[in-house]
Amino acid sequence: MTVYLNGEFLPLAEARIPVLDRGFIFGDGVYEVIPVYSKKPFRLNEHLKRLQASLDGIRLVNPHGAESWRTLIGKLIAAQGFDDQSLYVQVTRGVAPRDHAFPKGVGPTVFMMANPLVTPPQALKATGVCAITASDNRWLRCDIKAVSLLPNVLLRQRAVDADCAETILLRDGFLTEGAASNIFVMKNGVLLAPPKSNLMLPGITYDVVLELAVMHGIPHEVRAISEAEVRSADELWMTSSTREVLAITQLDGQPVGDGQPGPEAQRMDAFYQQYKNQVMRK
Ligand code: PMP
Repeated sequence: MTVYLNGEFLPLAEARIPVLDRGFIFGDGVYEVIPVYSKKPFRLNEHLKRLQASLDGIRLVNPHGAESWRTLIGKLIAAQGFDDQSLYVQVTRGVAPRDHAFPKGVGPTVFMMANPLVTPPQALKATGVCAITASDNRWLRCDIKAVSLLPNVLLRQRAVDADCAETILLRDGFLTEGAASNIFVMKNGVLLAPPKSNLMLPGITYDVVLELAVMHGIPHEVRAISEAEVRSADELWMTSSTREVLAITQLDGQPVGDGQPGPEAQRMDAFYQQYKNQVMRK
């Protein structure tokens, strides 16, 4: 696998960063995951905008303009021997003696890799997945896509330990998001989504789903969603760039709705696949 590190394209095994990189020492960096279908990045502009917002959030100057990112990302995609990719971009505050204060005169570390994209197989879409709930114990800047993901790692592992796919997070009695996804609720024919705030990552897939809801006339409300509404949902969906739109059919051991992927989840997944294919053909 060819990766990108600070201006060079090289084999993964040859990519090295110094141990004093602030990404390693402090988790002082941000990242993006961009899905690539048939060697075309999906929603690249939106991912680059979110990267800028994350960099602004940690007060790190963007090392590249949008055009330069596009060129580098295009080269990395072309260098892989597979078409559907999950492209990872990471920018850290660079290498410096360990000190919390920002270092002066130090350039960032820029790393990118592309792994084969693994989206949910049909069999998983047909059954849906199970999820558990947990109290959202993360910091108050969950809108920043920071590499310091320890709380998310611990929260997601709870789901894995329970043989489930996701941990749905509740803060002060309200839904925030999943440990690595956004969460939607269907209730009485209305699609509910929590509003963007500092308490959740503004998902690129979240935006696509809401756009598709508008496009296809699906009634929807963006508003705070209570724990009771999550627990009495007709359907629950998780969304992310790699999971796309996936039905959650069991929550904390209880069936969601009738315990099968609901009709609206299946419709939205079909709209999503259709939209993806349209965009990729352009
Ligand atoms: N929330 C969190 C915490 C995530 O890690 C992710 C996945 N990156 C998402 C939401 C979904 O975002 P996206 O649709 O941009 O993949």
